[in-house]
Amino acid sequence: MSNNIPEYFGSRVFNESEMRRRLSESDFNDLQSAIDNGQGLDIALANRIAAAMKDWAVENGATHYTHWFQPMTGITAEKHESFIRPDSEGKPVMQFSGKNLIKGESDASSFPSGGLRATFEARGYTAWDPTSYAFIKDGSLYIPTVFCSFAGDTLDRKTPLLRSMQALNRSALRLLSICGNKDVKKVTPMVGAEQEYFLIDKKNYDRRPDLLYTGRTLFGAPAPKGQKGDYHYYGAIKPRVMSFMQELDEELWKLGIFSQTKHNEAAPAQHELAPFFENANAAVDHNHLTMEYLRKISERRGLVCLLHEKPFSSVNGSGKHINWSFSTDTGVNLLDPGNTPAENAQFLLFFSAVIKAVDEYADLLRLSVASASNDRRLGGNEAPPAIISIYVGEVLENIIDKLVAKEDYEPDADTEIRLGVSALPSFPRDSSDRNRTSPFAFTGNKFEFRMPGSSLNVAGPTTVLNTIVAEELRKFADKLEAAEDFDIALNRLIRHTLRDHKRIIFNGNGYSKEWVEEAAARGLGNYPSCADILPRFTDERFIDLYTRHGVYTAQEMSSRREISLSAYSSNLKIEAKTMIEMVRRGYLPALSSYTTRLAESLAKKGCGLMEKETLDILNTLEDEAYLLVCKLEKELSEVSSISDAVNRAEGYRDRIIPVMDELRATVDRAEPYVDQDFWPYPKYGEIMFDV
Ligand code: ADP
Ligand code: MG
Repeated sequence: MSNNIPEYFGSRVFNESEMRRRLSESDFNDLQSAIDNGQGLDIALANRIAAAMKDWAVENGATHYTHWFQPMTGITAEKHESFIRPDSEGKPVMQFSGKNLIKGESDASSFPSGGLRATFEARGYTAWDPTSYAFIKDGSLYIPTVFCSFAGDTLDRKTPLLRSMQALNRSALRLLSICGNKDVKKVTPMVGAEQEYFLIDKKNYDRRPDLLYTGRTLFGAPAPKGQKGDYHYYGAIKPRVMSFMQELDEELWKLGIFSQTKHNEAAPAQHELAPFFENANAAVDHNHLTMEYLRKISERRGLVCLLHEKPFSSVNGSGKHINWSFSTDTGVNLLDPGNTPAENAQFLLFFSAVIKAVDEYADLLRLSVASASNDRRLGGNEAPPAIISIYVGEVLENIIDKLVAKEDYEPDADTEIRLGVSALPSFPRDSSDRNRTSPFAFTGNKFEFRMPGSSLNVAGPTTVLNTIVAEELRKFADKLEAAEDFDIALNRLIRHTLRDHKRIIFNGNGYSKEWVEEAAARGLGNYPSCADILPRFTDERFIDLYTRHGVYTAQEMSSRREISLSAYSSNLKIEAKTMIEMVRRGYLPALSSYTTRLAESLAKKGCGLMEKETLDILNTLEDEAYLLVCKLEKELSEVSSISDAVNRAEGYRDRIIPVMDELRATVDRAEPYVDQDFWPYPKYGEIMFDV
């Protein structure tokens, strides 16, 4: 591969320059304006675009096309059709029509719908999303699409995201216009999703049923060396990993993904990739592709990429930090403090809207990152707690304090923007003082949401951020529109908002026990388990919010509630069953063989302190493990047959997880006492240090 990146960057993407080359100027402009205004395309134009796409794809080696979508399984889905059609003489010709580009029909019955799809009508539709570029992968032209049911209910994660982007755009434009800014035509949320992952050797992975079935280790005593005292973070990258990362970068660049930063993370075998930020829709699609290539390229190289939130206990888990801001088509980041008092005022307005949104809808943000796997991470080693708070840094907090303390502002005819904040000092732009314990941090000109887990679809939390901020901007616009004196109203609005929502700001150590208590005293929500938060999907407040902004219908919300609750329970069911299998077929037989061996030695030798004491310890642990696995089986059969989804999830939380944890602790306690030739599965040290 040449190091001339600009030469091959985006070479597999039907991007703007390719469109310009292949479409007439008027077709190109018509497509752009259809995209900008969210209008449909007329079929003649769609036919011409489809033909151009097909020609480009075929020239670049594609034989098939596929509508590519994001059902609520958490991964993407695709169904490939070849371009081949027989002509009148039965000879193959390559064809692709506008109809095939715009709309696809697929069987929706195998995808989760949470009750939205009536059983008699299993059809689902995919529809082209022209705001995300088509691309070529594995000999197919991939067309990003949305996915909905026959009745038009959304069955995917992209549709709500696109709707939330429109909602944010609408509210922000309205507010900007009230503030006198009429130049801006479009406001777009921008996202940069940092991706953490583990890379391990495939030969170890293949020998661990827990990794195979659940993506995480359900057993394993800590290795003598963990992440403490190790300097893996930002450390020199091993040649095998570096070569993997190079191939990954090249593949991503060809797909037009700005993969930018790569480094070792805190835990052994843990790494991170960060792309350059882009519009939220592209960022979501690109993160999906990134996860796919992480998996694919590692496999080709005898490695396995673990995207689970907590593959190993006792070391850090993996997150996906969502860096989020929103920008105008005139090139202004509305979360950038700027340099002039006017810019400062505009910044404070949008900034305070985010503070208010996060305070009022903290539960919804928590909900957007809820999964059984992320439960294992949140509140664990170096992961943000399950409590939402915002880090703003000392400088900004001081400014907020001063603003809040001010008496009601009297307009001063001298100052151009009469906001009383013209003395705003320049903001620290570098994020070096960042507090890594905060789940939601302001980092100079963007917010970084650190709660999302490494395997999560970025669309979920981004949809929430867009929508809750759209809502606050809407309320701001209502207030300012009705104001008699705009300047006084603006000043008051910012100050009162910051005053009323200051409780969500916390610059201290988010990992500390004291914070849990203080957060409770401040009235902030704390939901350590999914079972606590998932039932709240259909809270009236959330339905009001989403329906007002046209992001979800009430039915769509209740379908998501059902899907998430059942995913939680089934995830834990698979884990519990895997544990039972590993204990019954692996650990218990190993303990039995080894204790027999010890007993035989002891009998032969007639004495032996090691044999005698080890035998005592292991006999006890073997009995305990046996009793616990019996208990787990019994609890599992009862809990898994509970029919009510909420009760079942609570059953997993209260009756299954504690037994699983106890069983694991018992087996892990035995591990250091057993001859390694008897131990049935690779140990932590081998898995984490073997690459
Ligand atoms: P870190 O030290 O956490 O890696 P960086 O400054 O490198 O912080 O940024 C991390 C991510 O934030 C990158 O993906 C970057 O492109 C993205 N990012 C930077 N500025 C913005 C912005 N204005 N909006 C959204 N994401 C941004
Ligand atoms: Mg970061």
